[in-house]
Amino acid sequence: MGKPPQLSADQRSAALAKAKESRQIRSIAKSKIKSGELSISDIFTMAQSDPVIAKMRVAELLAALSGVGKIRANAIMERLNISPTRRIQGLGKHQLSALTDEFSPTTSRGKLIVLSGPGGVGKSTIAAYIRKHGTFWVSVSSTTRKPRTSEHHGIEYYFLSDEEFDGEIAKDHFLEWAHFAGARYGTPREPVERALASGKNVLLEIEIEGAKQVKVHSPEAILVFLEPPSWEELVSRLERRATDSPQRRAERLALAQEELASASFFDHRLINDEVQNVVQKLLSLTSAH
Ligand code: 5GP
Repeated sequence: MGKPPQLSADQRSAALAKAKESRQIRSIAKSKIKSGELSISDIFTMAQSDPVIAKMRVAELLAALSGVGKIRANAIMERLNISPTRRIQGLGKHQLSALTDEFSPTTSRGKLIVLSGPGGVGKSTIAAYIRKHGTFWVSVSSTTRKPRTSEHHGIEYYFLSDEEFDGEIAKDHFLEWAHFAGARYGTPREPVERALASGKNVLLEIEIEGAKQVKVHSPEAILVFLEPPSWEELVSRLERRATDSPQRRAERLALAQEELASASFFDHRLINDEVQNVVQKLLSLTSAH
């Protein structure tokens, strides 16, 4: 048997300092858990990138949760087959999700707001503002239209080929989808479901046919029809659109006229006078419903 490796004085004090720092980090984390500033799922997320948190003992973590204490922590660990010395990094996938479920406050489902209205009325400006300010969780649609110069895949849209879009329809991956001005647009179902289930209010910014489909499948959705301050205003907005060809612009105008007639189908009508005003009203609808 060889001798155990010896540490130099410098190595020893570096190791001690590191251990002290780790203890401090864990103790800060525990007090944030106690105060409710960090949830158990926050800690599990942090553990993925922070080795100090990953090495925290599960028993220590549970006992820090307010209202849990050592006895209940032990009982829960026994039930979930987690050994008393287990560290967060040693937890299996099922144990992680069982613990998260056990300690997550039951969140109420978020509200689904569908913002629709004639093309060119300014829906995308409202959606961009909401996305920037995080007022709601904003869905990213898929489309078969080509990206405009400033657009990026996964940000404004998922830009799909016709075949890819067909595949998504076949797999029933869309909450709704519709044709619009020579392209197809659809709302991916799964991310919306996930956001609603986790209690987030969700905004869909979509054209009218899609909005109607959402109402059929999800009657609890709040349908909002965005109106231009006036028809003249809408015409001039569409004419200012440099990205559209003259033919596309004419098509959009004709369609917008048809679309204005659909307003009665919607739960609410809002005039797009000023972005912040509209956002404020959308926000107040989530508490009114
Ligand atoms: P644009 O090509 O100008 O970005 O959008 C054209 C129209 O498609 C807009 O009226 C927009 O609201 C609508 N749209 C965007 N995403 C979706 C979607 O997922 N489903 C439906 N039905 N319409 C969408």
